Amino acid sequence: MDFNWTPEQEAYRMEVRKWLEANQPPPLAQIDEENSGDDAAWARLKAWHKKLYDAGWAGLTWPKEYGGRGATFIEQVIFQQELGRLGLPMGCNVLGVIMNGPALMQWGTEEQKKRYLQPILAGDEIWCEGMSEPGAGSDLASIQCRAELKGDYFVVNGQKVWTTIAHRSHFCQLFVRTDPDAPKHKGMSALIVDMKSPGVTVRPLKQITGDSEFNEIFFEDVKVPKENLLGPLNQGWQVLVATLMHERFGIGETIGGTEQTLHALVELARRTRINGAPAIEEDDIRQQLAQFAIEVAAKKYNGLRSLSRRLKGLMPGSEASISKLVSTDLGQRMVKFTTRLLGEYAMLESHTPFAPRGDWMKRILQSESMTIAGGTSMVQRNMIGERILGLPKG
Ligand SMILES: Cc1cc2nc3c(=O)[nH]c(=O)nc-3n(C[C@H](O)[C@H](O)[C@H](O)COP(=O)(O)OP(=O)(O)OC[C@H]3O[C@@H](n4cnc5c(N)ncnc54)[C@H](O)[C@@H]3O)c2cc1C
Repeated sequence: MDFNWTPEQEAYRMEVRKWLEANQPPPLAQIDEENSGDDAAWARLKAWHKKLYDAGWAGLTWPKEYGGRGATFIEQVIFQQELGRLGLPMGCNVLGVIMNGPALMQWGTEEQKKRYLQPILAGDEIWCEGMSEPGAGSDLASIQCRAELKGDYFVVNGQKVWTTIAHRSHFCQLFVRTDPDAPKHKGMSALIVDMKSPGVTVRPLKQITGDSEFNEIFFEDVKVPKENLLGPLNQGWQVLVATLMHERFGIGETIGGTEQTLHALVELARRTRINGAPAIEEDDIRQQLAQFAIEVAAKKYNGLRSLSRRLKGLMPGSEASISKLVSTDLGQRMVKFTTRLLGEYAMLESHTPFAPRGDWMKRILQSESMTIAGGTSMVQRNMIGERILGLPKG
């Protein structure tokens, strides 16, 4: 593989950069503002999404018929790099664009694709992902939320938990048990659920950061039209696995942002003084920054493996687990390193006096969650061991 960008790709990068620099909104918080409870921030994020969509930058790789550009994954990567360079968010419907949309393209009927894809990309209809339950997270085959087919409707009863952005969502890609007598992996299905349906209750959960990004959802006799079945009945496990792979690819490649964090750390080490000299002159700090730079480069080259798969028209494979594991673990170690650079100042929240720029405390608190969301680091290690290294099941 040639790692150099072609002149055409460089020209494309310049086109992206020029547009982003000319059109970027006034600073949005760099981390996950989209999910916070702040309505004003949400409105600004939606406006940014709309601007990206109108200019054809949302869902670059999506086919033109669904509002995308039909661009290559290389162009998508260049776009993400440029977005990251300016610290700009992807828009207001990240899960919809990276997970639910691709899952619909893979499993949806023609009617479903026509109905749902374009509004996802335009940010007009927000989607959430209803997989986890109180008794089923890593082991999703154990889900209990059930749907019974009664005439033209499925009737859904049960609970989901940790559902990101459910409080702002119009639709949920919901995984339910449709055949309680079948083996665990064979009796589940995926449904498209209108979040305004009678019997759906969303309760936000408060996190350690103070934000409420995710929620509990309760379903009480919720009627879901049977044409909202996504993929074949009782084969929801295949839909689920494909959706998770899209998510891991997305977390690892699209919103990982480790390169951006590395640049922020180097900048911080230049600005911060330790024992009267710039922190970057301390040996242990230089070594740690160099180690991070090595890991960021290794992660980037593994990411190119995923990219070559996608360029060959294949779906994300198990290497997406490596990207997810590495980017979240590395990201966490990098943000925690600010405590070495800033000492006790790293503990200060952004709105307090003497707080350093960067909201590092929030990022440290938040970093743990990314090692859990989309499948924990332990579970990714199991998958890498079993599916890539061919080790026996643990
Ligand atoms: C920020 C965030 C956003 C989320 N958003 C969503 C969402 O939108 N939709 C959704 O459905 N879910 C969402 N989740 C839930 C997430 O997918 C689950 O939390 C995750 O899969 C782990 O499941 P659990 O919490 O039930 O933990 P458990 O599965 O109970 O795991 C507990 C511990 O046991 C370990 N463990 C479990 N099984 C194994 C094993 N086989 N081998 C080794 N160790 C193991 C885990 O690593 C973990 O440390 C989100 C979570 C977070 C943190």
